[in-house]
Amino acid sequence: MTKVLEKSYIEYDIIIGGGGAAGLSLAYRLADSAFSHLKILVIEPDSKQGNDHTWCSWLEGNHIFDECATTFYSNIIFKSKFLTKQYPIQPYRYRLISADKFYNYVLDKISNCDHIVVQQGKVAKYQEKEGGVEVTLEDQKTYFGKQFFKCYIDELPSTKDVLYVDQHFKGWWIETQEPTFQTDTCTLMDFTIDQAGEVRFMYVLPISEKKALVEVAIFSNNLLSQEAYDLILQQYVEHHLNLKGYQIIEKEFGVIPMTDYDFKKFNTQKVIAIGSAGGAIKPSTGYAFSQIQVQCDYIIACLKEGKQIDMRKTKPLRQIMYDKTFLSVLLFGDVPGDKVFSDLFEKNKPQQIFKFLDERTNILEELKIMSTCDIGLFTKALIRIMK
Ligand SMILES: Cc1cc2nc3c(=O)[nH]c(=O)nc-3n(C[C@H](O)[C@H](O)[C@H](O)COP(=O)(O)OP(=O)(O)OC[C@H]3O[C@@H](n4cnc5c(N)ncnc54)[C@H](O)[C@@H]3O)c2cc1C
Repeated sequence: MTKVLEKSYIEYDIIIGGGGAAGLSLAYRLADSAFSHLKILVIEPDSKQGNDHTWCSWLEGNHIFDECATTFYSNIIFKSKFLTKQYPIQPYRYRLISADKFYNYVLDKISNCDHIVVQQGKVAKYQEKEGGVEVTLEDQKTYFGKQFFKCYIDELPSTKDVLYVDQHFKGWWIETQEPTFQTDTCTLMDFTIDQAGEVRFMYVLPISEKKALVEVAIFSNNLLSQEAYDLILQQYVEHHLNLKGYQIIEKEFGVIPMTDYDFKKFNTQKVIAIGSAGGAIKPSTGYAFSQIQVQCDYIIACLKEGKQIDMRKTKPLRQIMYDKTFLSVLLFGDVPGDKVFSDLFEKNKPQQIFKFLDERTNILEELKIMSTCDIGLFTKALIRIMK
């Protein structure tokens, strides 16, 4: 016998908790008229006005969200003490999206769409009930959704139980007085800074001849003080880029988990985690934006075809093993990170590396890439994670 739902609930077909990269990527697709029969709610605590992230991805051909991209690069630079090289990356392009443009673009589309409501608020708890999920906000407002997409991380795994390292970033948007940057070329990774026994690299993303984002990324479980990140950035800008008359316009900071933690294990038919909360952050690199799109495309296909959503299908098992092995090598310091990435870039074309990291290579291509790394050390890492 079906129970009648309590009428005090406001009912939705889909509730999306968290309107960041993942939540809004899904909401954007659901704004399509094919889903106008659904009632959808997006819950997000933030007003999403500012530029809190800069998302880069390599892409082949045209893609969703190209329209709100700030720029595309056709060349990348890799630098380390072992290798300095500029690569053309056609047919790929390296795309930069500023979060503020992305938020405006998606929220604009949603605002013209009657079946999606955005509610400012923070999910305090959610509970599966018959027929759906009860979602309660911090202000005690309660909603009921037949399906709940959880797009925020509420608890990080304990670093003791899994392979885990934080990737922490700090970036400065800088403006120079003179034309300084080449707008079709970005520095993807520059390891020529002091590694301090960790994995540390800089990246430089110009959006005009006078404006660029200069960012430091560190893989380690020791967060620095804001002043320490600033010092690294200042030294890099002044001594590596040799810039003197520059202005800092904006700063960004963030921490993301690089881990083999199984984020998907708590998924049910009604509660599905996506984005960082759903394991979209690639454990070996920290990139997530493209994987978020893979996850959202998969969900949309399931909804259209009336199929059950099983997020494990978005990532092949052998890719999980590669990520674990790579992460283990970085974490245990079997080979210094700058050497690992230098080997990859020295012996493989970036197009092949991109395809591998996008998890679209076949086994033969993967074996070829692996043969360019230190096989002995990677095998040791593989044995370690199998134990
Ligand atoms: C500084 C930085 C730079 C990055 N650069 C790149 C890059 O270049 N390329 C790339 O691929 N990846 C990058 N990443 C990794 C990844 O793409 C981003 O972290 C991305 O934002 C993840 O999307 P998400 O939706 O999972 O999380 P978020 O975008 O962080 O969205 C989560 C949302 O949930 C909301 N929220 C939190 N708690 C609750 C709650 N209780 N109820 C409701 N809502 C809640 C938050 O306000 C937020 O809006 C970067 C990450 C950082 C931090």
